[in-house]
Amino acid sequence: MLKKTIKDIDIKGKRVFIRVDFNVPIKDGVIADDTRILGALPTIRYAVGQGAKVILASHLGRPLKDKKKAEEKGLPYDAAKYSLKPVFEYLSKIDGLNVAFADDCIGDAVDAKVAAMKDGDVLLLENLRLHAGEEKNDPEFAKQLAANADVYVNDAFGTAHRAHASTEGITHFVDDCVAGLLMEKELNFLGKALHDPERPFVAILGGAKVSDKIPVIESLIKRKVDKLLIGGAMAYTFFKAQGFTVGKSLCEDDMMPKALEIEQMAKDAGVELLLPTDHQVVDSYDPLHSAKTIPIAFTNTGLVGLDIGVETIAIFEKALEGAKTIVWNGPMGMFEEKPFDIGTIAIAEAVARATEAGATSIVGGGDSVSAVNQAGLEDKITHISTGGGATLEFLAGDVLPGVAALDDK
Ligand code: AMP
Repeated sequence: MLKKTIKDIDIKGKRVFIRVDFNVPIKDGVIADDTRILGALPTIRYAVGQGAKVILASHLGRPLKDKKKAEEKGLPYDAAKYSLKPVFEYLSKIDGLNVAFADDCIGDAVDAKVAAMKDGDVLLLENLRLHAGEEKNDPEFAKQLAANADVYVNDAFGTAHRAHASTEGITHFVDDCVAGLLMEKELNFLGKALHDPERPFVAILGGAKVSDKIPVIESLIKRKVDKLLIGGAMAYTFFKAQGFTVGKSLCEDDMMPKALEIEQMAKDAGVELLLPTDHQVVDSYDPLHSAKTIPIAFTNTGLVGLDIGVETIAIFEKALEGAKTIVWNGPMGMFEEKPFDIGTIAIAEAVARATEAGATSIVGGGDSVSAVNQAGLEDKITHISTGGGATLEFLAGDVLPGVAALDDK
């Protein structure tokens, strides 16, 4: 790890501003998935244990953008949906934490609350994105955030690919800027996979769009991943480019030349690129009753491909056997709807088996992570990344602004 972490500096008695990722799903005021909060707890507990005054800041959803959209369409806007209060209530129930809540993230009332904090206290600030300056990386807003920070800690890997006021701007106004323990863990796992993977190294990519994943595909090929498994709707762009009919399956026609280029790149680099050989399809006129598995080559114009088929599952399972590093991002099909979750769940199981047999497995991206959770396999994966876009950008070899801004060791 090239960046300083919270353990490298003295934080006792200091106001430690921790940028966390509490962008959690909340239903009727109750947190539906606490993974991200649990992920940040080691850093919070460490800072509390060191006698720091711990100030927590996060975004939640996109309040200003959603408000604008609602106004444009004349729809109601529910401001309560964008409050971090439910997270405060959740944190309040955790043993050993003395937590208070501030109704804003800057301003006199916040300053007063911070001034009243004792060593070891925790203060959760209200949603950063209620201020336009956050996403604009406005220096004035960043400076106001920094007014309550002796030390800045970034533990929000999931937003580290964005140069926002709380991830980048603030670092210009605070002397000590370091990584939190979750950030350190993410960077260590992903950094090892990217720069020094144990081989065979197998990457699995899925999801809806090839266009979103081109940089990561190219980076993985350049780094000579041993096998690249591509499933999900993104495979159809490759098939159509090869001359197959893909029916009404999701496909990005403008990406077809790029798909051919990627196949050639893989061939030249000696990377084994595996695409599905069969898939589960439905008839577009009778989607509820017509699910069946057919070879890719038998797809006619009326069909929609929604998951990889049994033969592909077997091929992908075999490709994962004996792997020593596995990176997975993106579902193999429309896994939110049964039975089109079969391929994604089967891959989650195969990754878990390979991990048991000695592979280091990293799963990133909301959908693949929820598939792993759905299958109850979260304990069988080496590292579940809290970042979706950030994981992809890191694996694509991009510098994450929120990481670059931290102090070097
Ligand atoms: P992404 O955000 O690009 O990782 O895409 C995730 C989404 O892709 C999920 O919501 C899946 O339902 C969807 N998806 C994956 N495969 C397919 C498919 N064959 N047809 C339609 N949607 C798919």
